[in-house]
Amino acid sequence: MSSSPDVSLRNVTKRFGDVTAVEDVSFDVERGKFLTLLGPSGCGKTTTLRCIAGFETPTEGDVYIRDQRVNTLQPFERDTSMVFQSYALFPHMTVGENVAFGLQMQGIPGERAADGGSRTEGEGRGGALASLKRLVRREGSEEVDARVARTLDLVELPGMQDRDVDELSGGQQQRVALARALVTEPTVLLLDEPLGALDLKLRKNMQVELKDLQTELGITFVYVTHDQEEALTMSDEIAVMNEGHLEQLGDATAIYEEPATEFVADFIGETNLVHGEYQRDEDGAVIVANGLTYRVRPNEGANEGGEEAFAVRPEKIRLGDEARGLDNEFGAEVVDEIYKGNLGKFVVELENGHRLTVDMQIRDQGQYLSVGREVTVGWSADNAVTLTE
Ligand code: ATP
Repeated sequence: MSSSPDVSLRNVTKRFGDVTAVEDVSFDVERGKFLTLLGPSGCGKTTTLRCIAGFETPTEGDVYIRDQRVNTLQPFERDTSMVFQSYALFPHMTVGENVAFGLQMQGIPGERAADGGSRTEGEGRGGALASLKRLVRREGSEEVDARVARTLDLVELPGMQDRDVDELSGGQQQRVALARALVTEPTVLLLDEPLGALDLKLRKNMQVELKDLQTELGITFVYVTHDQEEALTMSDEIAVMNEGHLEQLGDATAIYEEPATEFVADFIGETNLVHGEYQRDEDGAVIVANGLTYRVRPNEGANEGGEEAFAVRPEKIRLGDEARGLDNEFGAEVVDEIYKGNLGKFVVELENGHRLTVDMQIRDQGQYLSVGREVTVGWSADNAVTLTE
């Protein structure tokens, strides 16, 4: 039985004055899936996430959470929780109080802290904090305690309720932020670069933990990052954004192996891009550029006789004997050695001046290529993906 998606965006556009942050974006996130919004800084990822969360209202288009149109609902009225890069924890409060605050926001049990904890005129920051603490403590029912404890177990901070958040490491603080968002058992968890402030090693560990947690809980995740490796590692689906547009939606393999546009090919991983005139023939398709004819994968969307491009990944290009007999086979000269470990990285120049980066598994010393050496390069047409813009 197919169920409705947990999140649906329909033609969502968000403008801030003259700036169009998000333009005509539509996608669905199926129940229990991990979708990542990926793209460079300023492409509209966070704004899209904030439209789902309710911190922004779309200028045009609709947001649905499980069939319910939520455009006009406040964040706390939606069945979503958000984790921020900055953690946004309350300082001078304990871990338990911070996590319990997630429940207060949802009104479990009794009044919401968003109302009850709000600052009154002249009260000042210290006064507001004190009243917030009083509120959280007053609500310390057994149910809240039990849920806080359960959630802290989940994020691997068991028994840490009474620790002051100021004493925790960055990684621990992020776990508290995660617990605060998870304690409400939301349908959808929204995460805005949640690992951005962590060092690389911790970040890698947390990627695995987060993915495991998501699989275990079966909660739908919508995750924002500009880090392609993070997206490729964690996601069921990746929505690649560029200048407010959704460029491509697909799983990691599709995004990497079959990029739809030049932007996606270039942004995800490393690639060689060649522009030229696209032509169809009885064997498939070619792109002619600077006097060489490259055999490429046919693309229905490509414009025959028009300027198009193809992308071939460095690891798909073969050198020497392995290159012979492939759909594309050319003589070339090695012009640069970028890295010579077990995985060698070389730059070769074809006779028409095109330079290609090639990754090569080095199995024995004799395979090392020094600058100036003549070499045969080749790749199959299927690995030369024709792009349409
Ligand atoms: P980053 O990775 O740097 O956070 P992003 O992809 O999340 O970038 P957004 O934060 O969504 O991008 O911003 C998209 C565009 O909208 C940017 O040009 C940004 O300056 C603009 N923008 C975002 N929020 C506002 C706002 N409140 N007022 C005006 N412009 C905004």
